[in-house]
Amino acid sequence: LLSIRNVRKSFGTNLVLNDFSLDVEAGECVVLIGASGSGKSTLLRCVNLLETVDDGVIELDGTDITDPRIDTDRVRSGIGIVFQSYNLFPHLSVLDNVTLAPIRVHGVPKARARTQALEMLDRVGLADKASAKPDELSGGQQQRAAIARAMVNSPKLMLLDEVTSALDPELVGEVLDLLCELSSEGMTMLICTHEMSFARSVADKICFLDQGRLLEAGPPQQLLEHPAEPRTQEFLRRIR
Ligand code: ATP
Ligand code: MG
Repeated sequence: LLSIRNVRKSFGTNLVLNDFSLDVEAGECVVLIGASGSGKSTLLRCVNLLETVDDGVIELDGTDITDPRIDTDRVRSGIGIVFQSYNLFPHLSVLDNVTLAPIRVHGVPKARARTQALEMLDRVGLADKASAKPDELSGGQQQRAAIARAMVNSPKLMLLDEVTSALDPELVGEVLDLLCELSSEGMTMLICTHEMSFARSVADKICFLDQGRLLEAGPPQQLLEHPAEPRTQEFLRRIR
């Protein structure tokens, strides 16, 4: 579904993605791990066209999305993205947060957008919070609302960047459980996380990034228990 080939990206003289290649198959959950600054967020931002790559190709569903003539809005509408901070609009209700893009960007009729949004909120366990404002929700509930908002367009691909790192520890579980559920329902996901236990339970494949390169990738058991590369071993030792 997603094919990243030989991508290079620099900020000034800082080479952040160095000949990076990765394939994500439909239905697969791929987790990116690596030290702070290794390029995980930059990679997700390149896939969502928030950054332009200097070199290389990113294909989504067979379309080269790094082609400068590409319709970026169209590409983005097929991708759901959730960040560390929930980025919900504080003045809008949870329901209005979820219906905003479908109505304004995709021209979905209001009644249908509402029905779809309520279904999605029900799925993330927030049916009773539809009319609440974001600041009336817990962090975990806000993050689940952000996931509902990203999911409501039925994206082909979900990008999730440290979605639990701003949460109190006791709220992390509910968000991770939801992501495990979405993955088991077949959603294709590319996730950055520092939560190794979550990575282990949800990932089909874990990728270790080191200074903008994909140093090593494999099934969770293999990569976490028997990493081949010394730098992967060192990283895992440090975070344990
Ligand atoms: P973390 O685990 O801390 O989130 P990360 O792996 O997500 O780290 P990135 O955010 O991708 O790392 O950053 C990789 C490098 O790119 C860093 O050296 C960072 O300073 C640099 N960088 C990221 N965004 C920009 C930007 N907009 N302008 C300049 N440099 C940037
Ligand atoms: Mg990051």
